[in-house]
Amino acid sequence: MTNPSLLILAGDGIGPEVMTEVRKVIDWYGAKRDLAFDVSEDLVGGCAYDAHGTPLTDETMAKAQEADAVLLGAVGGPAYDDLDFSLKPERGLLRLRKEMDLYANLRPAQCFDALADFSSLKADIVGGLDIMIVRELTSGVYFGEPRGIHKEGNERVGINTQRYTESEIARVARSAFELARKRDNKVCSMEKANVMESGVLWRQVVTEIHAAEYPDVELSHMYADAGAMQLTRWPKQFDVIVTDNLFGDLLSDLAAMLTGSLGMLPSASLGAPMANGRPKALYEPVHGSAPDITGQGKANPIACILSFAMALRYSFDKGDEATRLEQAVEAVLADGLRTADLIGEEGRDPVSTSEMGDAIVAKLDASL
Ligand code: NAD
Repeated sequence: MTNPSLLILAGDGIGPEVMTEVRKVIDWYGAKRDLAFDVSEDLVGGCAYDAHGTPLTDETMAKAQEADAVLLGAVGGPAYDDLDFSLKPERGLLRLRKEMDLYANLRPAQCFDALADFSSLKADIVGGLDIMIVRELTSGVYFGEPRGIHKEGNERVGINTQRYTESEIARVARSAFELARKRDNKVCSMEKANVMESGVLWRQVVTEIHAAEYPDVELSHMYADAGAMQLTRWPKQFDVIVTDNLFGDLLSDLAAMLTGSLGMLPSASLGAPMANGRPKALYEPVHGSAPDITGQGKANPIACILSFAMALRYSFDKGDEATRLEQAVEAVLADGLRTADLIGEEGRDPVSTSEMGDAIVAKLDASL
């Protein structure tokens, strides 16, 4: 049997630094768990522009379409700020998401106990938090037509259109219900059905899919503004939250920051199943290329390592190995190891990017 394929696009800034640590973890799984991947590497973002004059070549795009999963570091940096919009590093990432049709964006908000004091909320409210926001990523108000700014009489009018088809709602709802079955079996769907027709349709379709295909999953509905309040009041009431592109953008950032640093946050973007049954998938940390700390050994590799854990769980059906990796991260944090971004008032000495990666691999060893 051939090994599953993994395309690594480390990108710019701290992307390659954190990806070096992920490679240690990937190699560990090949050596110690008989879980080898056919890894190939390519360019995306500013480094691809430097080499090829475009943030993503057609060849790299084709490789991404064929890979069992894509793991991305980060793109962007001040050197590319003045480029034409069509050549900016971020366009490479947007092209990947669009052409792979990655419609379900999974953003976990998980608070490791060792970091509970780091949250802006009280430790007992966030300690042990483990929720998943599923955001619709390819439709809604960011894409709907008509859009633009035009003149009406003497003044300018800005227009965006919230538009959802039934099938767009249905497929992201299915993603959320499937996920819930692998977790605590609860989905809360959020929209504004009280004031938006697209919200009324959203609620109807989610309810229909639930009744027809997932009656075993507990479903609730909440207006998105109330959802924001509940997320800060008592976030542990939720398991999986499914919502549209705009509300998901806001709610996933809110939920993620309950748990502390940007350097800790992984994500997955999933599309339709491929011929082999695996979903099209792109895994990446939520953070950017962090030009302010690039090349200094300060980057926290955990967000990228946890993104690989998501790949193990959602692309390769290795939930037990994903848990092993998450527990290794938790154990390292419980030992008190912190990269610079995780040091608040405590005055500890930070560890470097590679020391953090090595410590996680040592905990993986200890788990055997
Ligand atoms: P950023 O996420 O790169 O950095 C924000 C702050 O968080 C910085 O102070 C940075 O040092 C810190 N930080 C981020 N990741 C960290 C990590 N792993 N460890 C420790 N500290 C970390 O966001 P920004 O500064 O707004 O953007 C910088 C560049 O990244 C821009 O070019 C932007 O367009 C790009 N960007 C890319 C992505 C992506 O690739 N998905 C996402 C956001 C921003």
